[in-house]
Amino acid sequence: MAKKRKACRECHYINEPDNQTCNNCGSSSLTEDWAGYVVITHPEQSEVATEMNVSEAGGYALKVR
Ligand SMILES: [Zn+2]
Repeated sequence: MAKKRKACRECHYINEPDNQTCNNCGSSSLTEDWAGYVVITHPEQSEVATEMNVSEAGGYALKVR
């Protein structure tokens, strides 16, 4: 069974299952309890990215509990 990837509670970045800290912001507050995967390729042109305060391209969770 595939392990679920972990979303960062701080920046919503999606990290690999084995990560202990966030690849994007370095926070150790990761959770498997998230929903809604969004890929942001051009943060500076994306309304979603602006709303989520995302400045780096990558995969993000819409909702993190
Ligand atoms: Zn993060």
